[in-house]
Amino acid sequence: MSQYYSGQRVRGLFDPKSKEPFVLSRTKLDLFMNCARCFYFDQRLGIAQPPGFPFSLNNAVDILLKKEFDIHRAEGTKHPLVETYGIDAIPFQHEKMEEWRDARTAGIRFFYEAANFIVRGGIDDVWINSQGKLHIVDYKATAKNGEIGIDADWQEGYRRQIEIYQWLFRKNGFDVSEIGYFVYVNGKTDAKAFDGKLKFDVKIIPYEGNDSWVEDALAKAHACLISDALPAAAAQCDFCRYRKCTAEAELRM
Ligand code: SF4
Repeated sequence: MSQYYSGQRVRGLFDPKSKEPFVLSRTKLDLFMNCARCFYFDQRLGIAQPPGFPFSLNNAVDILLKKEFDIHRAEGTKHPLVETYGIDAIPFQHEKMEEWRDARTAGIRFFYEAANFIVRGGIDDVWINSQGKLHIVDYKATAKNGEIGIDADWQEGYRRQIEIYQWLFRKNGFDVSEIGYFVYVNGKTDAKAFDGKLKFDVKIIPYEGNDSWVEDALAKAHACLISDALPAAAAQCDFCRYRKCTAEAELRM
């Protein structure tokens, strides 16, 4: 049996009778955008999808980038890569930076009264430009041949991630630029030999976000949770097809 999957949870679930604000994370709102049914299973019934394996290499890249940008945050200087790209921004200094980065317990939060949700999420970084506007920054790591972009269908969640944080920072009273940045690290697979070293290209990709969908999504997520009906499943989902096939096979046995 898997040591990772814990089955059904009973804590932290949405209770339609409760008047207490419900804490909704950025990742769960993204789950709702992908599939209302899975969101309902998770947040109302306590049955989450089995977790993926931890991406240790991605985490290592995140930690190292954070350390590197923190040096420039402390000194109030521009990171050389940011300089190379001609971007007018330095890492934002703020007493809550560590709290905002803590995705597990804190993160940046906003009480959205219309849906009675406390929306929260942990950021990778925030930069500030010379006009005092903030840029939301997300670190990504991959290893692929060819040009890295941010326009693929499967990267929709990445784009939404920037937009939810733009919304959260605006709701916390900050002046936020529409332009967010992905710091994209790509492990080079064209080296002649591994030789115990993995080399990386680092690229900054600007993304013009639009957070206008967020409040509508929160209203729909709330309507979904308050209902006693199980929502429809997403049309394209390998998990559900797998579940359907196994259930049908069991019935035939
Ligand atoms: S389609 Fe099924 S398995 Fe896939 S995300 Fe939705 S409920 Fe979950």
